Amino acid sequence: MQMATGKTIFQRIIDREIPAEIVYEDERCLAFRDITPQAPTHVLVIPKQLIPSLADATDADSELLGHLLTAARKVAVQLGLTNGYRTVLNCGRDGGQSVDHLHIHVLGGRPMSWPPG
Ligand code: AMP
Repeated sequence: MQMATGKTIFQRIIDREIPAEIVYEDERCLAFRDITPQAPTHVLVIPKQLIPSLADATDADSELLGHLLTAARKVAVQLGLTNGYRTVLNCGRDGGQSVDHLHIHVLGGRPMSWPPG
């Protein structure tokens, strides 16, 4: 999903052009609550640097990708997901990705089923 400005909705959140409930931020990433939560806790962790999808990541992004997972763990601790949680990274059309800015979903607060739909 791309805005008329050429920026994705997530870039506009990074640039503070639209509001979001930010729960974590550091120099490389931002985490905010999903606007359509699929669980009692549903947060998105995104890099400040634009990588459209996991398919666009390169070996040079390895450290950043690890940083995002580490941030997801910090968010889970911060939000009290002591019973566990689900991390999801949708990639491309078949993966169900709808915003072209790489993001990790952190879902918790209820038991998750498997396999996904
Ligand atoms: P995906 O389908 O994996 O690309 O996930 C995109 C997610 O972004 C969806 O769960 C949407 O609910 C969420 N989303 C879209 N717009 C916003 C927004 N303005 N603020 C927070 N979450 C959003």
